[in-house]
Order: sequence, then structure tokens, then C-alpha cells
Amino acid sequence: MGTVSDYFGSLVFDDRVMKATLSAPVYQSLKKTIDEGAKLDISVANAVATAMKDWAVAHGATHYTHWFQPLTGITAEKHDSFISPSPDGGVVMEFSGKELIKGEPDASSFPSGGLRATFEARGYTAWDPTSYAFIKDKTLCIPTAFCSYGGEALDKKTPLLRSMEALNKQALRILRLFGNDNVKCVRTSVGPEQEYFLITKEMYDRRPDLRFTGRTLFGAKPPKGQEMDDHYFGVVKPRVAAYMAELNDELWKRGILAKTEHNEVAPAQHELAPIYTTTNIATDHNQLTMELMQKVAAKHGLVCLLHEKPFAGVNGSGKHNNWSIATDTGVNLLSPGETPYENAQFLLFLCAVIKAVDDYQDLLRIAVATAGNDHRLGANEAPPAVVSIFLGDELSAVLEAIENDTPYQGAEKTQMKLGVNVLPKFNRDTTDRNRTSPFAFTGNKFEFRMLGSSNSIACDIMLNSAVAESLKIYADRLEKAEDFETALHDMICKTIRDHKRIIFNGNGYDDTWIREATEKRGLLNYRTTPDCIPHVLDKKNVNMLTSHGVFSEAELRSRYEITLENYCKTVVIEANTMVDMARTQIAPAVEAYTMDVAKAAAAKKAVAPSLACTYETELIQKLSALTDSIAMKVEELQDALLELQKAEDIGAESEAIRDRVLPKMGELRLPCDEAETLTAKSYWPYPSYGDLLFGVK
Ligand code: ADP
Ligand code: MG
Repeated sequence: MGTVSDYFGSLVFDDRVMKATLSAPVYQSLKKTIDEGAKLDISVANAVATAMKDWAVAHGATHYTHWFQPLTGITAEKHDSFISPSPDGGVVMEFSGKELIKGEPDASSFPSGGLRATFEARGYTAWDPTSYAFIKDKTLCIPTAFCSYGGEALDKKTPLLRSMEALNKQALRILRLFGNDNVKCVRTSVGPEQEYFLITKEMYDRRPDLRFTGRTLFGAKPPKGQEMDDHYFGVVKPRVAAYMAELNDELWKRGILAKTEHNEVAPAQHELAPIYTTTNIATDHNQLTMELMQKVAAKHGLVCLLHEKPFAGVNGSGKHNNWSIATDTGVNLLSPGETPYENAQFLLFLCAVIKAVDDYQDLLRIAVATAGNDHRLGANEAPPAVVSIFLGDELSAVLEAIENDTPYQGAEKTQMKLGVNVLPKFNRDTTDRNRTSPFAFTGNKFEFRMLGSSNSIACDIMLNSAVAESLKIYADRLEKAEDFETALHDMICKTIRDHKRIIFNGNGYDDTWIREATEKRGLLNYRTTPDCIPHVLDKKNVNMLTSHGVFSEAELRSRYEITLENYCKTVVIEANTMVDMARTQIAPAVEAYTMDVAKAAAAKKAVAPSLACTYETELIQKLSALTDSIAMKVEELQDALLELQKAEDIGAESEAIRDRVLPKMGELRLPCDEAETLTAKSYWPYPSYGDLLFGVK
């Protein structure tokens, strides 16, 4: 196959291919669209479409699809072949500019949260030329945005692009104030660290819970879990190594910069991180990565689990979002600079983020809210549901010195005067110290650690918008200031004073922190999805998001509906799966074993009537008590599910699920898991946690 540099991006219609296959004027015109969002002329679109089709056909493609990200959380595609009949009875391969630019999937079954009544089911997909087309399964995939005919966003990409534009607009205003006139555009970048589990396909197939819900709903604790910490960064097993190698090839061919891979904390858990790139592209790449992770696993007789919490009692999976803001001239605005002026600019952007995270804690929590992620946040393995920022002791001390106008007690004492002093050198925090923080500054970027492993990176919409809002407030004030430097200094001081409650450098897993955060600092603690989602419609949030043109109010309402619907459906499927498993497999297995134990005792007594058979008697009593309890808990769970029909709206339903269904699921699990520990292995219908977690050699 040659070296990586030979085949990297070989399945991508990237800049190299565009240059080689398009005429100079067409290429220039397309570039302008990509870089500056200029409108694309139909003649140019036709030329691009033809070049794309010829290239794709030469690479074995027969079909094309508009590839989009509806609110289901996964990607969607509807394949059309390039064929068109020719008069001589044969076919020619055709693809027009019109087909490239716009598609009309029959989208009536995608969630729209009431935005699009089914009788006007037509949504349309619109080409996003900023994300390169690529080939997958003999199909040319064209990244697109998905909207209703009224123009409302029905996907994650549209508001993401809008939020990036909002941040760009406000950041440019700030940069102009600092005299940076040559910057044309500011973009956010993301490097996502993706966690996942690998288990064998054979075992997966034997677990209805994994097949229907992506997580185990039963399972006794294995004798060995993650307590030895011997998996983290451990030697990768040969079968996993082969998987990772093939996955890398598939990703590289599609231009995805897969870079780092290692074992994670839990057994069978691994991580993959690409090199960071523009958020829009990183989002598309991450969606494609998650899909390829699962496809390649299947080829290796494995299953890749992307659920946030596949195994109770074992660390779940997240997706650390390394986020930064940079100019098209290559300046990272979250990197402390070399000159006093650059430092002042850095501090202003830093403050904008601090203010944004404090003012919109709720939106950040909302951005990552799913039924799956609720199992992680606050469970002493992932950041708490309380949002806070880790800055590290040194940078915190710098801010404190600025706020109090006192000398910074660094290596040498310096009075921190903005625009005069260079920031003292503070160490970049590369340790695991900040593991417990939901939002950690790591020297030149923030690591947003609350995302669940299956979340789309598009959830950065909220972060981007909130930062745009801070920057707007700053720009409004600074543009009017008579003395820029004084105004700047005052504003930075004010931000530190008003928002320092959000800064926390300690251990986020500690219960005392949660108390301090909520009781003393007044920070929000939305533990579950039903707790936080209604706040997306709070006036302050609606005002902010609509004022930057990121969402319309109708779009926010639809997202409120869809997120809660998704939550309810997910948990109801889990509950039904539990009922089914407990009734048709677990209870019968325990019963069969109990019967055989009873038969054994009777047989022994027949031979030696004086035997007490204490072991059998006690075991039978325990198992019978457990089957009774299982039967009772199944009934209670079913009652809780029936009760849901009484809920008046989706908000009430989600609360009933949180308060009644989920607790009953927990109660049903207990006797089942205990029965597993008392039942002979050969009777148990499912592979155990030990089998699943240590099954891949
Ligand atoms: P670690 O977290 O192990 O110290 P890094 O922080 O270097 O490792 O990398 C983690 C992820 O952060 C990678 O995807 C990397 O490309 C990304 N990253 C590094 N620098 C930036 C940046 N300036 N902006 C966004 N992401 C970045
Ligand atoms: Mg990291």
C-alpha cells in the first residue's frame, strides 16, 4: 500500500485533487466559496460536480450521497447512483451541480421537534464546501447541512457553523481594537480524545442489553476490575493492535489525522485522538471516525462500544474536547504571547472564556446532556455535573495579582500592569492533575471534559456562542472607550472579580467541592438530563442564542423536545429490555438451577436419608427469595412504565422516568446480579462482566 504519506487522504476530494482536476478559474471560485463563504455560481458548481464524479468513479464509486447529521445523533445518508440511461441502451455516469448543491431526502422520519409537520416532510440538504467530500463504501459522501423548507436547522451542523460565525464576528472586532488589521477570520479548533470499549462480537451477540441499548443492564461485579490500574497505557494486545492499525489506515485514507492511541483506565477500554483541526471539520471527522471504529471492529470479530457507560462499576467513556481559537494568520488566541500587548490580548480572550463559562454553565451542561452521559457525570470517574474551570495555581495567581493590583509572587515579584508587563512564565499543566475538572486550561487550549463518548462535537455550539457573547460585551465597551488601556484593565479586573467563583483548581470528585460549589459559590448542579434541558428555554439563554443568530426560538423549542424525547425513548427501551431479560432468561435460568440443586439434594437423601443437605437447602432458599424478588421488581418496573402514559408532556414524562423508572431499574438489577453470583456459570444465559472485559486477547 506504500507509505502513509502516499495514501493519506487518497479517498478525499481535497485541495490537492481540486487543484489537479479543476480549471484555474473554477478552482479560484471554489476556493473563494470555501474560504470566504462567497456564493457559488451554477456553472462553477457543474464543473466541480463533474470533476468530483470523475474522480470518485475512478476510485471505484458508483453512488453519491448527501451526508448529514440529523438530530438522531448519528449520520444519515441516502444513496443515489450516478447512472443515467443513454439512448443506446447503456448508461453514463452523471452528476450535476444542482445535485451537488442541494438534495431532498425524504426526511419525514427524522426528528424535528414539531418544526416540520409530517405533511410538509420535505427537508433539504445543502452542500457544505468547507468540509471535503470523501469516499466510503463505493459512495461519494458530500458533507451537507440539513434544513427545513422554512430554513430552520434540522441538524447539528447548521447551528455549529452559525456559532462559529458568531464567534468569528465578535473576535474580529476585538482583534481590530488591538490593531490586528490583517486577520481575515477567526476559527475555533478541536482535537477530540475519543474513548471506547472493544469486546468480542461473539459475546456481544449473546447479550440482548448490549444489542438493544449499547450498555449492559445486568452484570455482577467481576473478581477483577480496574482496581490494579494495570490497563492504563499498558501494552496493547495483538488483536487490538491489529484493529488499531487497520482503523488508522481507514482514517488516514479519508484525511483524518489519527495520531495517538492507547489503552485507557478500564479493562477493554481504549482511546484514539486525532490532531486538532477546525471545529466543523473535526465534527465531521469525529462522526466518520465513530462509524469507522464500528465498521473496522466488525471485520475483526469485535464490537466497538461508544456508549458512555457500558459497564456499571467500571469507568465509562468520554470525549475530551480540546478547544482553542485561532486566527487565519496562525495565532492561537488562547496562547500567552511574547509581548505585553499580546499578553493583554490573551488575557482578554481568557477572561471572555471565564465569563462565558460562568454565565452559561447551564448551556454547557445542556450541550452534553444524554441519558448515557447522566451515568458518568458526577459518578467519580468523570467531571461532576457542576461546571467549573481549572486554570492551575500559577495562572490563578496571576489573575489574583491583576485583580488586587498586588505584585505577582512568581519567580520574581512583578507588579502586573497590563500592556506593560510580559506575563510571568507559568508551567503548562500536562499532568493528570486536572482530570477531575469539567473545563481545564492546558496552556494554550481548554479541555472540555464533560462530553460523553457518543456526543457530537457539534455540542460546542453552546461554548462558541457563549464566548461570542462575552466578546461582544467587551467589544461594545472597548470600541467606545476613551482610554483603551484603562478600559481594558478595568474590564479584565471586573471579569475576574465577578466570575472567579467559576475557577476551581482542586479535586472535582470531592463531595466537599459539590457542597462548596452549590452552597457557597452558587454554581448550578443539574445532575440529570431532565434537570437541565428545560433551561435551554430560559429567557437569558434564548436571548443570547437568538441575538447571535445561532438558533431561532422555534429551533430551540424543537431541540428541547427532541433531546427529552431521545432521553425518554432511550430509557424506556432499556427498561423494556430489562423486563424481557429478567422474565424470559434470568428468572428461568435461576429457576432451572434451583430445580437441579433440589434434585441433587433429593437424590442424595435417597441414598443417605440422614444427610442434612444444608448447602442445597440454604442455596435453594436464597435463590427462591431472589426469584421472588425479581418477579416483584419486574412488576414494579412495569407499573412505573405504565404510569408514563399519564404524563402530560415530554417534560413530565422525562421527570417520571428520572424519578420512578430509573430507580426501579436499579432495584430490579440488584436481585438479578446477586442471583448471578449464586448460580452455576453453565446455567447463566449471558457472558459475565469478567468474560466481556477480559475476553479480547
Ligand atoms: P495531552 O492531553 O495528552 O497532553 P495534547 O493536549 O497534546 O495531549 O493533545 C490532546 C488533543 O489536543 C489532541 O487532539 C491535540 O491535537 C489537541 N490539541 C493540541 N493543541 C491544540 C490546540 N491549540 N487547539 C485544539 N486542540 C489542540
Ligand atoms: Mg489531553
